[in-house]
Amino acid sequence: MRMGDGLCEWRFSLPGGRGAYDSFLKGMNTISLMLGLFVASAAFLFPPPCFSDELPRVFISLSFNMEKRVVEGKSSITFPDSGEQRIHIGSLKIKSVRYRDHSVEPVIKEGMLIIEGEKGSVLDMEYECASSENGPCSVDTKGIMLTGKWYPSVEGLAYHGLKALVPRDFTAISEAEEITKEKRPGGNLFAFTFPHPVEGITFVAARFSVVRETFRGIELYAYLFPEDKGLAKTYLEHIKKYLGLYEGMVGKYPYKRFSVVENILPPGYSTPTLTLLGQDVVRLPFIKNTSLGHEILHQWLGNLVYVDYEKGNWSEGLTTYLSDHLYEEREGKGWQYRKQKLIDYETNVNSENEFPLRDFRSGIDFGSRAIGYGKGMMVFHMLRNMVGEETFFRSIRKFIKENRFRRASWDDIRTVFKEESGEGLDQFFGQWLDETGYPSLELTNEVERPKGRNYAVSFDIAQKEKPYVLDLSVSIRTEVGDTNCVLRLDDKKQSFELLSEGNPEKLVIDEHYDVFRQLTPEETPPVIGRLLNHDKGLIVLPSEGKGEIYSGVVKYFEERGYEAKKSQEVGDKDVKRSPLVILGYDNPVIRRLFGKMDDPSQGLVLSMRKNPFDPSMMIGVVSASSENEVENAWEKIPHYGNYSLVAFKGGKNIEKRIGESRQGWDIPLAEPVVGIEVSKTRKLPDIINSVSDKRIVYVGERHTSYEHHLTQLETIKGLFRKNPKIAIGMEMFQRPFQGVLDDYIEGTIDEKEFLKSSEYFSRWGFDYHLYRDILTFAREEKIPVVALNIKREIVDKVSSKGMDSLSDEEKKELPASMDMSDEEYRERLREVFEKHAGLGSRDFDNFYQSQIIWDEIMAHSIDEYLRKNPGRKMVVIAGSGHLVFKSGIPKRVFRRNGLEYAVLLNDDAVETGAADFVLFPQPVNMVSAPKLMALLSEEEGKVKVRGFPDKSVSEKAGMEKGDIIISLDNEPIKRVDDIKIFLFYKKPGDTIEVRVLRKRFLFGDRELSVKVTL
Ligand SMILES: [Zn+2]
Repeated sequence: MRMGDGLCEWRFSLPGGRGAYDSFLKGMNTISLMLGLFVASAAFLFPPPCFSDELPRVFISLSFNMEKRVVEGKSSITFPDSGEQRIHIGSLKIKSVRYRDHSVEPVIKEGMLIIEGEKGSVLDMEYECASSENGPCSVDTKGIMLTGKWYPSVEGLAYHGLKALVPRDFTAISEAEEITKEKRPGGNLFAFTFPHPVEGITFVAARFSVVRETFRGIELYAYLFPEDKGLAKTYLEHIKKYLGLYEGMVGKYPYKRFSVVENILPPGYSTPTLTLLGQDVVRLPFIKNTSLGHEILHQWLGNLVYVDYEKGNWSEGLTTYLSDHLYEEREGKGWQYRKQKLIDYETNVNSENEFPLRDFRSGIDFGSRAIGYGKGMMVFHMLRNMVGEETFFRSIRKFIKENRFRRASWDDIRTVFKEESGEGLDQFFGQWLDETGYPSLELTNEVERPKGRNYAVSFDIAQKEKPYVLDLSVSIRTEVGDTNCVLRLDDKKQSFELLSEGNPEKLVIDEHYDVFRQLTPEETPPVIGRLLNHDKGLIVLPSEGKGEIYSGVVKYFEERGYEAKKSQEVGDKDVKRSPLVILGYDNPVIRRLFGKMDDPSQGLVLSMRKNPFDPSMMIGVVSASSENEVENAWEKIPHYGNYSLVAFKGGKNIEKRIGESRQGWDIPLAEPVVGIEVSKTRKLPDIINSVSDKRIVYVGERHTSYEHHLTQLETIKGLFRKNPKIAIGMEMFQRPFQGVLDDYIEGTIDEKEFLKSSEYFSRWGFDYHLYRDILTFAREEKIPVVALNIKREIVDKVSSKGMDSLSDEEKKELPASMDMSDEEYRERLREVFEKHAGLGSRDFDNFYQSQIIWDEIMAHSIDEYLRKNPGRKMVVIAGSGHLVFKSGIPKRVFRRNGLEYAVLLNDDAVETGAADFVLFPQPVNMVSAPKLMALLSEEEGKVKVRGFPDKSVSEKAGMEKGDIIISLDNEPIKRVDDIKIFLFYKKPGDTIEVRVLRKRFLFGDRELSVKVTL
């Protein structure tokens, strides 16, 4: 039977159950006499007349031996049925058992006392429960706390009565509609009556300061420790606020009393009429602390409607949804909360610890909480979106009303929602309760095109695993506003076409995280939990002398199967393949991956990064100032699994942050068309003028476009006129040849010697006419030219075989710091790489790395020069690919020195952020150096003809395949370079004499002279 509010007068005698009451009284007497502590009171609360006979009744009387820290208890249980009775004893020490007033020898098996009992008969027990850390009883001079199986209890629901004699200065509290207190010798006797069936009761006593108020006929109490009593008023105010909120939302508060009870042991939980909060929680700033509201809502969800645990715990998901989530939602942050729960799931749940939501019982660790609280909460959110706001809350109220003081299951929830919504929700509940995992969606074939007065966007969505039924929100972003739709997914692959008024720029899917789904990598920030949950990775030890500081961290990860390596032994392969824990912000491996990191100075900082080679792989950087800081903070780290950065000082958290990630799953459709106002275009001298105050001016080129080199020269001249203290940095020359450049600029060597010694033609190779004007001007004006590039051999080697293939000598040439974390640059390079897929079986990671080395060494060279020459500016001449969007060289120089710069590109796309200026020079023809038109190769100091292209002038003149070229116009030829330098000084139409050595079959080699007209 169920109780109506206030319907039961229950200080009267028990209908037809006198025996139990007598026995209860007798029990009290026995204990009292035995312990000499207290005598039974005739005024003790009788069980109410509306107790059901169908459930067991448990009466308990307690006293405490404070010195021995022991609970001394006496219980009597009245059985509702005949048959085998099973009483849970657990770790209790049973002192006597009497059945129907006769002493019996109890049969105890595996913590259960088993006895044949008749309907209405009474079992009396005396027992002790000693205080222990993880046991159900905690007795201390500071307070008493009894939770769980602290008295002989029956399975399932039962009525309970409780009396307890506590030390004089203690106040006791338990589940109750009414409490009485009487002075007794040796203490105060508290008696509690609760007329509703419950699975178990709780008992707490301490030196509480009690503050009382009433609200809508409910008595509210704050039981706080004296030192916290100043918080009582705020607590009662918030209790009123939450009771008001939930009475309006889910129905009338079911009891006469509600108490919040401060508790020594953390954290918090709710039982009928009580919410226990740990002292740490009580003292948290109120607004941030949502657990009070959550626990108050449990008065309805879990305490009024019981959870049928056998069939799954629905109460945490629903309570979380209507408390923690609701509070965030009301501040417009619902989507962040839901996204966080999805990240949480991805971080903490894996194929080994995953189970279906229906199997959730209680949150025992991060994984089970991510399922029971997180996924559970999302299921109610999806349900609300599916049936509508009004139906959702009507169904919740009906569910509570129909299941008062009953155990209810997910099936009861499903039944109510089906009735109220009229929808067949079997598949919905089935897929979310009985399946593991979540939908993993894939979008393909996105196309946008004009359609009548609108635009149509079509695409396919596939569900990679078993298809779920989902309502997915999709937004089309256009320059004239967004078009929003909800798509119903119910198949493995579906095609959609959506119309929008404006020109679609991108699709954004599930922007508000309304669906429990797998996030895309762009939506996932790097979080600590993903590193801690990995069981095989690499610890990169700190630089010499700092090993001691991190020994605690090393031990922690080694226990999880991580392997430790010295930073100099960490190969590129290690970095690309495994999660990394890098110790020390100054660790050389950081300089290799992220350029540099700031010194976190004091304390301990753990910050997470995505691995630049594989964004799904995590890198954690730990930096600590002392061993002590590690010792104080490290054990707390696992509680911060959802953060990307945490900082501690003296063991106290001082900062926590979640890294940035995208909101919603977005798919770009088309870049908006941009244009420039022609009347506002500026002439180059004017542009040069406006960048003349920058310390560095970059001018990009397509290497073979002569007009680009002319704008470079014009820029150099313009800047030189304003301030002659400039230098020119050139990609075209490699660092080991700086001396040759210097000699040429100073005039110690001539151009021919310069081309030979700088190995210009074999190392750069483009027609020297392209750059000659720039270098001639520099030589005339004695403007220093700086070789920016790394030796070509190194870039080639990394690009084909990776960084591990370099010799120690070659590694010395590498830039000291490299930042590989620019994801957009990586994507642009990937496009370049894929367009040149003809590069064979080359590995993109190697290609990417070689590009970064190239950029970083140039950035290093620029920075190095400007540091040594603080009075000079620099004009940098480089291919546009190294400059566009400023990602290749400019940002890397800026990382090093923070100097102001401007980027000028030639004939490049006018895109936001691509450059400061884009120049559009008219094409100019250049006089090119003539060619022999022969395919040449170099072997042992000899240049050999390997063949001819079509219409070759040298083939026409009589040269043959296999000829070895000895001299051109009597200038000896040893290398291909010698030929290129020779030809550089010839004009088309000139005739030259080529002496070759030709092999003959029988007569030995023969020298021939051939006249070639170029
Ligand atoms: Zn809860």
